[in-house]
Amino acid sequence: MNLGVRLGTTNAVLAEQFKLAMNFWQRVLDLDWHIDNTDNCAIQLVDGERSLFNAAPDTIVARAQFPDRSGFEGWIVFNPAVTLSRVELYRISVHEIGHMLGLPHNTNTASLMYGLDLEDSEDLDSSDLALLASRHKMRIDSVQEPVKLTKVR
Ligand SMILES: [Zn+2]
Repeated sequence: MNLGVRLGTTNAVLAEQFKLAMNFWQRVLDLDWHIDNTDNCAIQLVDGERSLFNAAPDTIVARAQFPDRSGFEGWIVFNPAVTLSRVELYRISVHEIGHMLGLPHNTNTASLMYGLDLEDSEDLDSSDLALLASRHKMRIDSVQEPVKLTKVR
């Protein structure tokens, strides 16, 4: 699959980390991506309205639309009220793109798909990978070995 990605954020650091997160997924799945700032894009990264985060304005940092919901338009929104470090932006981007690829939350705290604090999360575990492999063609050879998050600065 070749995904068009619209980078509709005014946060240049976020845009940069989001691209690195797409590159991470590109190594895991048989996926290529390119910038597409038109309505044809598959994923759109946008700065969220505050009202989207009303449930918990200070703790919800980002949200993604799940592909099985009606009206799916590939939105990933970050909460402008929360300031995040470079590595947090990267890790959360990987997590939100994971939702877009169909992954639910994982109860394993080491998983990048863990639902709460992502601080200790640094891999896709075998259950994440098995689920991905049931939906997508994989680029990695084995779904048994956890895939570590590539470090970025
Ligand atoms: Zn999540």
